Amino acid sequence: MVKIDTFSFFRVGINVFLSLILGLVSPSLALAYTDADLLPLLREIIAETYPELKDITLTTGSFSESDSFFQSNFELQSLFSEQPIYRIEVNPRIWRLSLPPLALKAVLAHELAHTRDYHLGKNAGAHKLQNVLCVLNQLRLYESLRTYEHRTDLQAIFRGFGPGLKQYREWLYPLLNAEELARKQEVYYTPAEIVALMQALSLSEKAGKKSELLHYWLEKVPLNLVEIQMGIRQFGLTGS
Ligand SMILES: [Zn+2]
Repeated sequence: MVKIDTFSFFRVGINVFLSLILGLVSPSLALAYTDADLLPLLREIIAETYPELKDITLTTGSFSESDSFFQSNFELQSLFSEQPIYRIEVNPRIWRLSLPPLALKAVLAHELAHTRDYHLGKNAGAHKLQNVLCVLNQLRLYESLRTYEHRTDLQAIFRGFGPGLKQYREWLYPLLNAEELARKQEVYYTPAEIVALMQALSLSEKAGKKSELLHYWLEKVPLNLVEIQMGIRQFGLTGS
């Protein structure tokens, strides 16, 4: 039995009334997001786009940085086991900012492309630890980090996430200071570059050369509009 005095009864009544009003005015306030809430969406993207990851153990977590909202990680010790544990981490600041759903899905597809690299590496038989060391080696120097992140964007764009990735960068840029913005524009594709890549993707599909072009670019990653145009010319892809 719970003893309720008049004051508590009144306070509970006010709280119930306020929650009802908030629920009616803004249903999203009632749905407090946490990183674990992303798991169903991550599983959906895997089922639709990365079937090779369907059996992996995937968890979520959080991290804190001023200019970054999502990252792909792993539990180090688990890499020595048969069943590695991969983790997609989220900056909790994201829950206070309204990220469009298409952009959210695209940035998660980018992060899962990293997970794919940890899991499969360049050859399917390689040990997970070997794959991860290979990725970490690419992150060591700024130039190879640029190539690696552009290649990861390419993976997402060629899997159909170009429009969402463009939307994500457009959403992100106004949140950054000048230095952070310059770095993001150097390390990842800008909206204009994503548009050029989507046009190339569409032309290569029509010409039956999509996988050929992707293979070429994964080896020789274009880092700017000029290099994207060079690839388009190299494959004889024109709009006419
Ligand atoms: Zn990345």
